[in-house]
Amino acid sequence: MIPASRTPFVIGNWKMNLSERWAVALLDDLLPAIAGAPEVDVGVAPAFPCLRAAADRIAGTPVQLGAQNAHWEDKGAFTGEVSPRMLAELGVGFVILGHSERRNIFGETDERVARKVAAVRRHAMVPVLCVGEQEGERDAGRTLDVVERQLRIGLSEIRPADGAEIVVAYEPVWAIGTGRSATPAQAQEVHRMIREQLASMFSPRLAGTTRILYGGSVTPASAPALLSLPEIDGALVGGASLDAEAFAGIVAAAR
Ligand code: PEP
Repeated sequence: MIPASRTPFVIGNWKMNLSERWAVALLDDLLPAIAGAPEVDVGVAPAFPCLRAAADRIAGTPVQLGAQNAHWEDKGAFTGEVSPRMLAELGVGFVILGHSERRNIFGETDERVARKVAAVRRHAMVPVLCVGEQEGERDAGRTLDVVERQLRIGLSEIRPADGAEIVVAYEPVWAIGTGRSATPAQAQEVHRMIREQLASMFSPRLAGTTRILYGGSVTPASAPALLSLPEIDGALVGGASLDAEAFAGIVAAAR
């Protein structure tokens, strides 16, 4: 269901970094470190082979389990892929889709991302749709056009009125893993456009309740300025999510 309010949401995208043992060890450190922030929704997205162990470790805690990708079909001859049904059965609550590493390294198109968004929704999981411009696109003044297209096509296969939650993550590609986060003004401009577009594609109500996260070199130092902006409802965190203290610092900034 669409949340009644935009509770801040902070997600750690662990990418292809932690094997099972290290994923559980990180959760052991993280769970007590974030226990004092019940007013923030927290999620972690481990690699596929660690999902079961992570699900067991966070059982009974408020931390949500996410995946980093999903195929659009439930089953079939798709060697190497993982289906949304399999993820739902593991207790996955949200799935990161259209991450720039998927788009740029693995050639994922907007159309494929759209099919994945619809598939994840079919299984009652929350799609976290990533959008964001490359550096050259920003330099050419095309940021808003690029993000508008990714959003319009990425959400084109879901029905406007089916009442389920989506999350959008604005992640400028030039800010990911570079240590150069967007300025609050840059992020705010794009977040505002995303919310306006959600209102025109779906409804003002959905736009008003959809969480739009910022991602791109978020650290405990950069988080307070970004997360205090009215249009920014949380963070998608890569590098800093691998360190319990740093991630907990970002969660604290989101309160
Ligand atoms: C990401 O990959 O989603 C991300 C935001 O990475 P980082 O925080 O390392 O820039």
